[in-house]
Amino acid sequence: MQVRSEKNWGVDWAGLGWLFLFFWYFSCAPQLLIQITGTSGFTGFRQAFLMSALWLVPVLLFPAKTRAIAGVIGAVLWLGSLVSLGYFFIYGQEFSQSVIFIMFESNMAESSEYLTQYFAWWMIAGFALHTVLAYLLWRRVRPLQMTGRPAYAMAVVMLLSSVGYPLISQTLQEKTFAAAMLKVEARVEPAVPWQLVLGYRQYREQLNNMQGMLTDAAKVPPLKNLKSSQGEQPTTLVLVIGESTNRQRMSLYGYPRNTTPNLDKLRNDLLVFDDVVTPRPYTIEALQQVLTFADEENPDLYLKTPSIVSMMKQAGFKTYWITNQQTMTKRNTMLTTFSEQADEQVYLNNNRNQNARQYDGDVLAPFAKVLQEDAPKKFIVVHLLGTHMSYQYRYPPEFEKFTDRTGAPARLRDDQVATYNSYDNAVLYNDFVVSSLIGEYAKKDDNGFLLYLSDHGEDVFDSESGNVLGRNEGKPTAPMYTIPFMVWASPKWRQGHEWNLTADTSRPYSSSQLIHTWADLAGLSFDEYDASKSIVSASFKERPRMIGDPYAGKKSLIDFSLIKPKAVKKELETAQQ
Ligand SMILES: [Zn+2]
Repeated sequence: MQVRSEKNWGVDWAGLGWLFLFFWYFSCAPQLLIQITGTSGFTGFRQAFLMSALWLVPVLLFPAKTRAIAGVIGAVLWLGSLVSLGYFFIYGQEFSQSVIFIMFESNMAESSEYLTQYFAWWMIAGFALHTVLAYLLWRRVRPLQMTGRPAYAMAVVMLLSSVGYPLISQTLQEKTFAAAMLKVEARVEPAVPWQLVLGYRQYREQLNNMQGMLTDAAKVPPLKNLKSSQGEQPTTLVLVIGESTNRQRMSLYGYPRNTTPNLDKLRNDLLVFDDVVTPRPYTIEALQQVLTFADEENPDLYLKTPSIVSMMKQAGFKTYWITNQQTMTKRNTMLTTFSEQADEQVYLNNNRNQNARQYDGDVLAPFAKVLQEDAPKKFIVVHLLGTHMSYQYRYPPEFEKFTDRTGAPARLRDDQVATYNSYDNAVLYNDFVVSSLIGEYAKKDDNGFLLYLSDHGEDVFDSESGNVLGRNEGKPTAPMYTIPFMVWASPKWRQGHEWNLTADTSRPYSSSQLIHTWADLAGLSFDEYDASKSIVSASFKERPRMIGDPYAGKKSLIDFSLIKPKAVKKELETAQQ
């Protein structure tokens, strides 16, 4: 009975079934893994299912070309699914457009470094199996036994159920078409290849925004009633921004391996703050807050208020930005936006191939040169590559000091030791660079101070499980957030300022409030300044240090103290033994 009625309708259910299965397979495979591992909810799975119906439309309209059409669409979906699958293999998470954004942000060369860091041979087998299954499914695809009206009617049904219905219903629900489109995009995204297409489109949009931001930054109203207690006294202030350095791996902060011998020697001249965390574990996202008035509660303030560079310009400083990060492509990313706000830039990382070795020691010569420049008031930002992966590219051979298990936690697996050691060697070299910057600055004996902090931390098998490598906001661990934060002041500065070496350096602080500390240290005051957010102020007020993606809704923000696991402390204690 059933069969006959289908025949009457002229619907080729079996043919449609195989075709659908073929198209769905590419979204289904990664989504299935996500389901099985409990990484994410069921919505993505359902959306991917619905979206796969869209590909039936062209084969319904042109049945004679079924195999060719399926082949071409299949090839595109296959490529997209390799990305989703690869990302899942490496991070154990669902691919999303923010991943693309971060991939492009750290640019492609750096991304390939990530790949080499995480790649494992079993992944090739996974890709091969995935490809073979796709091919076998394609072999089952055949032209549909339906043409004319039934086929067209079915095409309309598929079009409506995949994109038509959500588009119509969202347009009715939302006030504007643009808002409806955003909702529809969110539904479409779990399906291959839309996360790539939409992700790239959104990335381009961001890029345009940033280009606009430079123009807009110039239009941001200046700080109100800005005054300097410094008067016209010549001053040089230096901000050193590190990269991916977890303070728990610095002997300055109690790590058992002697990874910061130079800073250890300087300890008595440094204000070393030992409870500072970053709001976000990614360079751009962190610096958007660190270098501006933005924070987790007000993430967009970086667009509406002056950055630290504009602030210092307004205070009459000539501003310099020396960077060993990859900005030379002049893509107008967030970093470039910040650096372009300075009066002068030195871009050191000119390598087209980032896999070439690049050492932060390169910043020392231009730093010394800028110190000699003839400007009474100077503000110098030095942006290091720090201990960014791949760690072994961050230090010259003579800094390869840690080569065995001595001083490393006993639980490290044999295959983790080399990476673990290369990170410590990178920290050791970073110690040389930061202390050399201080040394260079001290030699010039200018009036002023130098502040060093890292943009975020890095988990190199530090946290509980011992398996985490890198950073992941979705699965935060303390080492991704705990950063070094210290200040060195010149003797001249100390003479003229209340340089409080007894300041409470154990205050819990988020680097998202840095601009207030900086203004306080520099003797600047203005209406937007909030002394309770300055770590060196007598009016300092302790606040919860929020971390997480502020754009993913209020619920995604959590207090850092909630993830500060006892386990990390325990690990450190074990390592010290
Ligand atoms: Zn970073």
